[in-house]
Amino acid sequence: MGSSVATPVGRSDLRRLALEVRKLSKTTDQLFFPIVEFIELILPKIDPGFELEILTREEMGTKHGLTLPDKKCIRLREDVYIRACNNEGRDRLTLAHEVGHYFLHDSSSVQHARLQPGEEIKAFEDPEWQASAFAGELLVPAHLAKGLRPADIAYMCGVSNEAALMQYNKIPGNNRRISL
Ligand SMILES: [Zn+2]
Repeated sequence: MGSSVATPVGRSDLRRLALEVRKLSKTTDQLFFPIVEFIELILPKIDPGFELEILTREEMGTKHGLTLPDKKCIRLREDVYIRACNNEGRDRLTLAHEVGHYFLHDSSSVQHARLQPGEEIKAFEDPEWQASAFAGELLVPAHLAKGLRPADIAYMCGVSNEAALMQYNKIPGNNRRISL
């Protein structure tokens, strides 16, 4: 079986990277991260040549987003983009996930691997896990969200209840393992 394997990156590294991204956009002291504005206005300044492409459902099919770091491009399906503009938590997370791929994954950091039967990629080597973990850390800043209830995290950070609960359980010092 073939799979993509990325240079290993753990959650604490991803949390640090998310904080760096917040510093670049001067949002370290606010719970809500303006992900659409970041992609449209800040990312092109950080990385000249960056391009956001909004594509139709016909062009994207079932893919909500696609990142081509080597081409400095993030592609979003237009309905996903519009919902993210309307602060829909699930779609905001999709955008943050693509930003994670953009910063973390290019042809030098992701390789195609042949796995032995029964062998599984470790989470911290899985590019999809890395992008999703980064997205959660970016939209829910641990240093500000610590101690907040999941429902408050969802409301104040603009994420789904599911994502809020997931991040709640990852924040160091929180009472572990609240479930819905
Ligand atoms: Zn992905």
